[in-house]
Amino acid sequence: DRAPPHYFGAGPALLPTEVLQQAAVELIQYQNLGIGLGEMSHRSSQAIDIINTTKQKVTQLLDVPDTHEVFFAQGGGTGGFAAVAGNLLAAHAHKTGKKGVANYIVTGSWSQKAAEEAERLGADVNIVVDARKFTPNGKYGVIPAQSDWKFTPNAEDIAYVYYCDNETVGGVEFHAPPEVPEGVELVADMSSNFLSKPVDVSKFGLIFGGAQKNIGIAGISLYIIKKSLLQHASLEQLRQLQVPIIPIFLDFPTLVKNNSAYNTLSIFALRIVQLNVEHLLAKGGLKAQGEESKRKAAKIYALLDKHPEIYKSPVAPTARSNMNIVFTIPGDGKEETFIKEAAIWGLTGLKGHRSVGGIRVSNCKSTGDVLPPAAGAPP
Ligand code: PMP
Repeated sequence: DRAPPHYFGAGPALLPTEVLQQAAVELIQYQNLGIGLGEMSHRSSQAIDIINTTKQKVTQLLDVPDTHEVFFAQGGGTGGFAAVAGNLLAAHAHKTGKKGVANYIVTGSWSQKAAEEAERLGADVNIVVDARKFTPNGKYGVIPAQSDWKFTPNAEDIAYVYYCDNETVGGVEFHAPPEVPEGVELVADMSSNFLSKPVDVSKFGLIFGGAQKNIGIAGISLYIIKKSLLQHASLEQLRQLQVPIIPIFLDFPTLVKNNSAYNTLSIFALRIVQLNVEHLLAKGGLKAQGEESKRKAAKIYALLDKHPEIYKSPVAPTARSNMNIVFTIPGDGKEETFIKEAAIWGLTGLKGHRSVGGIRVSNCKSTGDVLPPAAGAPP
């Protein structure tokens, strides 16, 4: 067992202790087989059962409609950036015979990185909006009004519209999916807020996320794709259109055809996803999770707003994340003192991302908000 966790790191983030306890035992031995989850073939009946059950439980938890397919891949969130560009452009090429323009809504460093990766691979990229242009200090912190967005004019030329539902570094979250032109596929990176609130999957062409924040541990990513996007143009066509061709282990039709096990995937990481999803279902599903995230975040934001003489929030109130609450404490050495004194209370993982500094409280689902002081804490 371990002491009540008071760790607020953004990710890898806390997982429920009972999930880890069961996984730890199963790492040594699974179902009396004499071997553990890290030693089992990904093609064994037990592994296939874990893949299928996890898919089914994720489908149940997120209420995934029949039009969509759940699968797992490797490569983390960053692998997803390349996978999105390669796969969605190939699907668009199949549908239209054209290369298509990848449209990116940039509201923070992760959507920025995703756009840069698409460009690096050779996609034609249109930045729909760059949120940095809408703040006085040129930093992320707002979701600009839709009237300021510039999609590629002809919707038929848009291969997909990409956005990051929760910007982990800047603490900017969409509280409803963005409106996109009629018939255009919407792609969301939900790496840091997957499973933290209900999602209407039918609105999306694709949702993806690395597991290490709310879903499980690093080593596996979760994808939910509209089945109609699993048809790609041929390699010859893609070469002709100069659509990026990405590695086969990130090719969605190949992954889906092979039940997520085209190459060796981490069954241990997947089993943790399964146990965690089962835990969330037992706790009332995503509706309960959404309410809890909101309630915990509201408590912290209320405190920040009550003491503007101490805390500064760089995020516009309507874009405040329920997962990553970021703030600064102006004044020489104040943030260092805050972090040092918080640690005396057993509160750790509070340092802001190295690229922006400040403080970040990551509100992952296992972070309790009733905090008995750690041993040795001041009264
Ligand atoms: N997207 C978001 C929103 C993230 O928070 C992160 C990781 N912090 C990534 C993508 C990249 O994930 P990974 O490190 O698994 O590549």
